[in-house]
Amino acid sequence: MTNQFKNRLVENMAVNADNHLEISGLDATELAKNYGTPLYVYDIALVKNKINTFKDAFRSYEKGTQVAYASKAFSSLALYQLLAKEDVSLDVVSGGELHLAIHAGFPSERIHFHGNNKSYQELKEALSYKVGCIVVDNFREIEMINELTEELDTTVDVLIRVTPGIEAHTHEYITTGQEDSKFGFDLASNQVEEAIIRLSDLSRLNTIGLHAHIGSQIFEVTGYEAVIKKLMASSKDWANRFDFDLSVLNVGGGFGIRYTDKDEPRPLKDYANAIMGAVREQAKENDLPLPEIWIEPGRSIVGEAGTSLYSIGTNKTIPSVRKYVTVDGGMADNIRPALYQAEYTGVLANKVEADQSETVSIAGKACESGDMLIWDLSLPETTTGDLLAVFSTGAYGYSMASNYNRLPRPAVVFVENGKDFLAIRRETYADFLRLENSIDNGL
Ligand SMILES: *Cc1c(COP(=O)(O)O)cnc(C)c1O
Repeated sequence: MTNQFKNRLVENMAVNADNHLEISGLDATELAKNYGTPLYVYDIALVKNKINTFKDAFRSYEKGTQVAYASKAFSSLALYQLLAKEDVSLDVVSGGELHLAIHAGFPSERIHFHGNNKSYQELKEALSYKVGCIVVDNFREIEMINELTEELDTTVDVLIRVTPGIEAHTHEYITTGQEDSKFGFDLASNQVEEAIIRLSDLSRLNTIGLHAHIGSQIFEVTGYEAVIKKLMASSKDWANRFDFDLSVLNVGGGFGIRYTDKDEPRPLKDYANAIMGAVREQAKENDLPLPEIWIEPGRSIVGEAGTSLYSIGTNKTIPSVRKYVTVDGGMADNIRPALYQAEYTGVLANKVEADQSETVSIAGKACESGDMLIWDLSLPETTTGDLLAVFSTGAYGYSMASNYNRLPRPAVVFVENGKDFLAIRRETYADFLRLENSIDNGL
């Protein structure tokens, strides 16, 4: 394979003798034939590989660790079942994610409940299922949890979500002091301290530590180091003044992945090593016992494992401007390019190594000019029915999918070393009608 193609492919992919893309040992054109397009294909071998990379990296840590998968990146019954077996923990942010996880048999003691507006009902469900911990986000939520623990005669472990005034971006972090965010207790204005005091009065809420999530698609470790320094120095102060122990330090997710050639993420173990190093150093510096380290990767577990397959339809050439090539999906199944100019790359899955004679822009089929998937992708000449594979679509693609223009949401197929399994079937028009009432029955 020439380098120009190899550079685009994701780990575990190959090109077979027919010049077709292979994902975890399966021909992408066969998958498209069997399941239709648009299609989400998840390479489960790669998902497991990412999980094990994190777990292995933390093995040298002296205290406990938890790798909690952030559900919002992509959730499904089968994925939750698989994660339960892989012995990771799970972040959920709604009653819906919680319900699916419980239904999948995910052990509730390994579920962490997040969110800035958990409803009374959602909190009740979480407490009834006895989730492992609730990440408390605001003062009103503390009151609600306290009331509910009394009503249900139960107790719960809580982590305090801190807005640390450190925001990490791909290549740098910024210290913002007081952060203008809807999430968590602000560190600079002493809200965290107030929360600690408030929680120490509530015997049914057991504060086990702190949580901070500083951003996403982060390529540098310095932001994590900075937040660990800040939170552990504060923890020393609180340990001296209040009944506060930092048993758990949860540093969130945000570990970067490769979407296109421009992205050069570092190996996942680098993040783990930097986090452990900073925690050890700050424990020593502040004379604190080592806390457990929890992380919450979402994108870095499922992002690169996901590939979207589309059938190519029509095209339009605007002389000396560009050529549009249209696919049978777009913003309805992957809104990231339209929502925040996310970039992707891909190949023509049925002619991977053909001469790339054209530079085209990949348009979706929705009635929005902004429904573009990729600008300026070099491809061989395409015809209707060719198969386009778009890489690294596994995170925040299907989970953000909609029925805009009444497009049915795609099927999701799991593949692993030559085997395939339909994890989520394609939506049908009958599914649309399931929710609808005829006006003949009302008004
Ligand atoms: C979104 C989110 C994550 C996961 O972020 P990724 O960038 O997908 O790793 C983890 N923790 C919290 C609190 C989040 O909001």
